[in-house]
Amino acid sequence: MASDDVSEAGRNVRRCSAVNKAAREFLAQQIADGPGPRDTCSLITFNDEATVCFQGRRVGSDTLDAIKQAEQAGGETIYVNALNMATRLIASTPADVHCVVFLSDGEDNHPSTALLQTAISGLVTACKPGQLQLHSIGFGPQGSTFEWLEKMADMSKGKFHNGDLLAWDTASQGFKLAQQAVTLLVSTPHFATGSTRLAYRATASSPAAATSLPSGPLVVKAAQDTSDQELELQAPYFACLHTAQSAAQAFPRLPAATTPKFVDCQLLRCSTEGSQRFLAVEQLLEGAYIKYNGNKGYVAPLPDDAHGRERHELAQAYSHWSWVHSGGRELVCDIQGVNSVAVKYGHKDMGAEGIAAFFESHRCNGYCHALTISNKRPAA
Ligand SMILES: [Zn+2]
Repeated sequence: MASDDVSEAGRNVRRCSAVNKAAREFLAQQIADGPGPRDTCSLITFNDEATVCFQGRRVGSDTLDAIKQAEQAGGETIYVNALNMATRLIASTPADVHCVVFLSDGEDNHPSTALLQTAISGLVTACKPGQLQLHSIGFGPQGSTFEWLEKMADMSKGKFHNGDLLAWDTASQGFKLAQQAVTLLVSTPHFATGSTRLAYRATASSPAAATSLPSGPLVVKAAQDTSDQELELQAPYFACLHTAQSAAQAFPRLPAATTPKFVDCQLLRCSTEGSQRFLAVEQLLEGAYIKYNGNKGYVAPLPDDAHGRERHELAQAYSHWSWVHSGGRELVCDIQGVNSVAVKYGHKDMGAEGIAAFFESHRCNGYCHALTISNKRPAA
């Protein structure tokens, strides 16, 4: 990415004129290099809206005039709509290579990582692997950083992972094939770090209807240390998830309380750079992640708001109840809730010690009383 100064021959030019000029210069270079007979060009201008000025024009000098005549967009600068429009044009314009040159005369006025991520994922997945070339160029006063243009460029460097989707099979306590030939676009770098895994945003390249994956943004959790132990590392998460899911299904419906739910998770078995990888894939839950309790007796502080308190107390009561439900064998803990109806957990089995630690710090609440489990605790 270049951030050009816009003073030219001692006079300042309007930045949007500089953008228009740069677009023409870029195309003029293509013309000078000798365009292929099938090369075409489309132009989108944008402010808070994106407008297609022309689509699929043969590359030639009249195209340069068409760019010059294009209305120069003033007002707000919002990248996402322009990227979404580019995705639509790419989807309707077959080509061997799609070269997107993103020129902006200012920083995005309403930046959002999640929206930009979705827009870039859409753009990248509209192309076949290796088909997209994305260039982003910012025009601003000297010292402009164009942080969001840089983020955009980074996000477009996602990696494609192609393989078979596996689901957890309770009967065999192992994985079984759910679907063949699934492609995921995994955005780098990771956005969160767990104790043993890194979390990446991802999207399925095939439409959700064609895969057994949930629709919308996904999260991929992969081993931090990409040794050959990734399958062994992932399996316990699936076994624990299944335990938590079956307990949640049996959890009694309490008046005026949500039921704990755990998002489904699948495993993508794929080969990357010669080694076999096992990537856990699940729906991405937007919102702040909250850790309600831990596997060594940790209990999160009680939130200030009524809704947060309700979810917190329900999570603690669910943990207590899961122990009663299992006949004192297991306790679902280390629950990570998100501000939606779903909760989910990562797990490191601390065994009896962890169960004892939970009950040491657990104070029964209204939900425990409603579930009539307050007097059901491990014998002292
Ligand atoms: Zn309790």
